[in-house]
Amino acid sequence: MKMSDFTSLGLSESLLQAVKNEGYTSPTPVQEQSIPPLLAGRDVLGVAQTGTGKTAAFALPVLQVMSRSPPQGKRFIRALVLSPTRELAAQIDERFSAYSEHLDIRHRVIFGGVGQNPQVRALQKGLDILIATPGRLLDLIGQGHADITKVEFFVLDEADRMLDMGFIRDIQKVLKLLPQRRQNLLFSATMPASISSLAGSFLNDAVMVDVSPKELTVEKIEQRIMFTRKSDKRTLLVKIIKDERVSKGLIFTRTKHGANRLVKQLEQSGLDAVAIHGNKSQGARTKALASFKKGSIPILVATDIASRGIDVEGITHVFNYDLPNEPESYVHRIGRTARAGRSGIAYAFCDDTESGYLVGIQQLIGKDIPVDDSHQFHYAGAIPKPGQKPGKMKEGKGSGKPRNNNRNRSSQGSKKGGGQSQRGNSNRGQPHRSNNQSRQRRQ
Ligand code: AMP
Repeated sequence: MKMSDFTSLGLSESLLQAVKNEGYTSPTPVQEQSIPPLLAGRDVLGVAQTGTGKTAAFALPVLQVMSRSPPQGKRFIRALVLSPTRELAAQIDERFSAYSEHLDIRHRVIFGGVGQNPQVRALQKGLDILIATPGRLLDLIGQGHADITKVEFFVLDEADRMLDMGFIRDIQKVLKLLPQRRQNLLFSATMPASISSLAGSFLNDAVMVDVSPKELTVEKIEQRIMFTRKSDKRTLLVKIIKDERVSKGLIFTRTKHGANRLVKQLEQSGLDAVAIHGNKSQGARTKALASFKKGSIPILVATDIASRGIDVEGITHVFNYDLPNEPESYVHRIGRTARAGRSGIAYAFCDDTESGYLVGIQQLIGKDIPVDDSHQFHYAGAIPKPGQKPGKMKEGKGSGKPRNNNRNRSSQGSKKGGGQSQRGNSNRGQPHRSNNQSRQRRQ
């Protein structure tokens, strides 16, 4: 498998050179399957998460087709990429820089949370490719600074996360402003019914490319579930971090507030940590991420949305400090480790208010997560009950005093996951949105 693989996809010399400079030797599956139909002018519906090489899968063909007809006169936005978060948008922009080095194509990223003037100036100068988060894009369109009526390529990236974040109306507004004739690309890590119907509303005879990880990514990652009381989570976490000398650990909390609090608590225990979430300024988020990437801060505490798409090499540990209320998030979270074929370990803490979430996660991944009960905080009261349904349990139920803290019981394994395991991923792709959606949106 050599560069000839990229050549056989029909990419031009300058793009082959760019890919070579990036050190890519062969295309990833999503690239192999998306690039030829995109070059041929087809719409593509890609089921792929971050880490699969999906950015190059859309950026390379878009660049290639655009460079066939260089700009005449003032530049206008010919490609629009919508991305749910600032971090992801910035990463896409950075990828466009890498791939378009030898091309006469101007691209720019715009997102909220920072001053709009430099963005307005860039738009006034003229751009070929705009990468944007939906809110800021609509603001700038509303003020007459951005014109998307001549877009030839529309890329909707991380569509499932877009919907989770409540961007559906914004997306629909953008779609109304786009010209009828254009090529569409939609990428999503999961394909719940809501995404299929969104896809159906604007894709035209799309080629479906499915490289969803299913077991693939998940299988490479060592996973452990630890049943514990909420009040013991912090001590358990500190103990693991210290015992295992975690050098690059990513910890997920459900809320921004929880992330901040945990950082303080870790610092009190002598651990260097930093938080990244939607309430932090862009500068603070960039700085936190850079320190973590560099390795100068070993622990990053994140909410799902802020972490989405963050591509940091060498994460050794992922901690689900809180279990996510959406099962798909679990797969995304643990996928932050074991990148590029490396191994990694993912710990999940489950307290007695979260056992329903665990049931949902295990249904999605089609197996039971191995239980680690060899720690002093093991709490059998958090184990899912036989036949327990996926989803939320009443808060506070049993979260006070221990009722049945039997350390020696082999817990979940002995009763086959509490009867909740449905093999074969039958739940995959089903929407798990619910009353928790509005809370998630604010993260
Ligand atoms: P993405 O899924 O687009 O976020 O890409 C994940 C990472 O894979 C990025 O760091 C890319 O630079 C890298 N990458 C993309 N395509 C390839 C390839 N064909 N070979 C090796 N690495 C790649």
